[in-house]
Amino acid sequence: MPDAASSSRHTTAAVQSFLENLHQACAGLCEGKVADYIPELAKVDPDLFGICLVTADGQVFAVGDTEHLFTVQSISKVFVQGLALEDHGRDYVLGRVGVEPTGDAFNAIILDEASKRPYNPMVNAGAIATTSLINGDGPTERLNRLLDMFRRYVGHDIVVDVATYVSERATGDRNRAMAYLMRHFKMVDWDIEEALDLYFQQCSVMVSCRDLAMMAATLANQGTNPVTGDRAVDAGYVRDMLSVMYTCGMYNFAGEWAYRVGLPAKSGVCGGIIAVVPDQLGIAVFSPPLDARGNSVRGVRVCEAISQEFGLHLFDSSRGCHNFLEQLRGKKRLIEAVEETF
Ligand code: GLU
Repeated sequence: MPDAASSSRHTTAAVQSFLENLHQACAGLCEGKVADYIPELAKVDPDLFGICLVTADGQVFAVGDTEHLFTVQSISKVFVQGLALEDHGRDYVLGRVGVEPTGDAFNAIILDEASKRPYNPMVNAGAIATTSLINGDGPTERLNRLLDMFRRYVGHDIVVDVATYVSERATGDRNRAMAYLMRHFKMVDWDIEEALDLYFQQCSVMVSCRDLAMMAATLANQGTNPVTGDRAVDAGYVRDMLSVMYTCGMYNFAGEWAYRVGLPAKSGVCGGIIAVVPDQLGIAVFSPPLDARGNSVRGVRVCEAISQEFGLHLFDSSRGCHNFLEQLRGKKRLIEAVEETF
């Protein structure tokens, strides 16, 4: 019989009840403001709040509003980077978009002085450049490839919210300015308005908190959706995506996030955050009110608490119980052994 001390206190039921308590505790956090710079985003109900975990072997833990649909916004940038890498390879993509964190706002109009590249694929300039790398014969084929890519991550068909897309396009002059600047430096190949359109569409793809957790779990599972078994991205590029998420994914809070939470993550002005525990777990939180840097107030708090509770910080060895799946399996093994004994 295994030593009881080596078993985990985190059974499936304990994980669920921890998340329910966390949801209840964080529902009391009422700071932050819903993004309103895109008029359509301002219409969201600020009280919506969901937490979802999906393990790399497909177990789902969900609390709160995990089925409500909203637009993916900046979280799309991670996945489009993966598709651009598949289309062109690491060296080519790196020639167009850097991997340096900026410390500046996501919509800053800056390019690397020397190379004229945008700093990284997570700021808007870099994301537009990345989107412009998606292969396809014309706008429809490119959009279809993009939607198909999202479909593989979430495990079902996915659509663009036309109202948000139109709203983004009508108010996106800052993004337009960046795109034209990049065209000036010949960093974007095809028609700039087409590239912007595709970028606005990718930001307007509708997802739920559960979908986001599945997308994060797919990255945790080396690019294969843990439920459908579909490959969403070449496993060889997952490390590229996670590295950039780790250093650049949380706007100009990325450094403090890496320090405090210690996981590759990406947030969006929709109020969503995804975080990935490689080989173990995808985490998603949805709560629209944002802090001054554009990250969901409750989302940051929830991820911090989950990371701490399960010892998930990538560089934290002090708790000796890193492996989330092992924590679940350890208890199962103990129960099986007890059943065999009696
Ligand atoms: N559609 C948004 C924009 O480009 C994405 C912003 C975000 O989520 O950070 O302004």
